[in-house]
Amino acid sequence: MSKYDVVIIGGGVGGTASGAILASNGLNTLLIEKNQFIGGRCSTYEKEGFKIDIGVHSFGRTSNGPLGTVLKMIGMEDAIDWVLARNPGPVQYYQGKFWKFPKELEKLIPPSDFSSLIKILRDIMRIKDTKDLDNISIKTWLSKYSDNKLVHSFINILCGLYFVVSYNEASAGEFVRCLSSLVQNRSTGYPKGGCIAIPLAYAKAIEKFGGTVETGVTAKKIIIEDGKIQGVELDNNKFISSQLVISNAGIKETINNMVGRNYFDKIYLEKIDKLKYSMSAFSLKLALKKPITHFKVINSMSLDYEEKVRSVLEGEVPDKVDLFVPIPSNYDPELAPKEKQLIIAGTAVPRENFERNREKWISSTMETLEEMFPKFQNNLMWMEVTTPKDIESIGGKEASVVGISQTVDQTGVNRPATSLPIKGLYIVGGDAGGWGIGTELAAKSAIDCSKIILKQKK
Ligand SMILES: Cc1cc2nc3c(=O)[nH]c(=O)nc-3n(C[C@H](O)[C@H](O)[C@H](O)COP(=O)(O)OP(=O)(O)OC[C@H]3O[C@@H](n4cnc5c(N)ncnc54)[C@H](O)[C@@H]3O)c2cc1C
Repeated sequence: MSKYDVVIIGGGVGGTASGAILASNGLNTLLIEKNQFIGGRCSTYEKEGFKIDIGVHSFGRTSNGPLGTVLKMIGMEDAIDWVLARNPGPVQYYQGKFWKFPKELEKLIPPSDFSSLIKILRDIMRIKDTKDLDNISIKTWLSKYSDNKLVHSFINILCGLYFVVSYNEASAGEFVRCLSSLVQNRSTGYPKGGCIAIPLAYAKAIEKFGGTVETGVTAKKIIIEDGKIQGVELDNNKFISSQLVISNAGIKETINNMVGRNYFDKIYLEKIDKLKYSMSAFSLKLALKKPITHFKVINSMSLDYEEKVRSVLEGEVPDKVDLFVPIPSNYDPELAPKEKQLIIAGTAVPRENFERNREKWISSTMETLEEMFPKFQNNLMWMEVTTPKDIESIGGKEASVVGISQTVDQTGVNRPATSLPIKGLYIVGGDAGGWGIGTELAAKSAIDCSKIILKQKK
């Protein structure tokens, strides 16, 4: 039987970040990860010299956001080498052309609606207290400014990129926090080495501060006796003793299967059962013989985005897919073999009805890419397809992109807390606490959770 100050179940961004902070504060830390690799949904694999992200990633605030804060807290600021999305910056693809945002939108939107959009952006920067907006959907909030379809579509697409849920469900408070911090920091980018560089830097920090990281190890049960955490039982029945357990395995999985529902009261369980995950995603990973674009990140958008999301949720596949297209090898040429290019193109899909439409999703996405990059298939060496099933097998959590969705009823004070109602038991990652976009939400949850634990230890 081994004894640790803290056992962390899961090596995603949340698990590795909390491990790094706690280990650097002297806690004897063990992190176990069921996959053979670290990173969960924020991981990268290698094929024929291409280093390919499992997801479709761009990072909102890089070193200026919570991903950087984790490293500052442990005195390892330079452990991630960020490349910023500048020269060229992010572009929108709309009606056959690439547009710079927000400058060139002026050419597409009538002057009165363009001034409304500028007013929205100015107001966002001025709002100090976003709490009052937490319970209002982005759509309701936006309707006070403009009813222009393109303005709505544009904001809805940003919301889809940030939260992977439609803007009629997502929280305006969370949107304002995210967009204003992005505009203030102007540091969107991507790490050298692929997205895995982030959890890998945190995992290395755990080891640097005397902790242990074990991959290929699955937690089966969190053991509780007399209302107190005793430790973790692995699927090989080995027991690891610790009075502090942090789970990065998902709030529902932790409560329902690892701890057991009988340890929680009815009202709490009802709340947990009602929690909803964000949508899932489907993506194509394209290995190209030679570079076909100099852009680092492209978003495609259309006028009827709200209607598109509705029909996609009902199981339809649009002819033109709204795509998020990072080009990782334009950030870091080492992510592709010399003179080759790696392009990733992804879009939000519901996991429930994806498989029966799989082929149609692939062909519609290829057609949309062909429109964006004419004849690109002449340069295609091969491509990989990542589906909701793949995401679920790596990270669980109903194949969700983000975690517990940032909807009006699940953000701010309504977000599940990182501390569970059992002393010594915590959740980190995209399922509890924090605010922000994707990995930043997970890192913020880990920072807040670690601070609670360290305060209690003192
Ligand atoms: C397609 C896609 C696109 C995305 N795009 C972006 C983006 O552009 N920008 C951005 O910031 N974010 C993006 N994200 C979201 C981001 O990747 C996630 O929000 C973040 O990585 C979630 O981290 P987490 O801490 O919740 O952990 P997870 O990634 O969920 O990891 C949890 C880990 O726990 C492990 N685990 C589970 N059960 C056990 C067990 N019993 N024993 C041991 N280990 C266990 C799992 O194997 C996994 O490794 C994207 C995600 C996807 C899928």
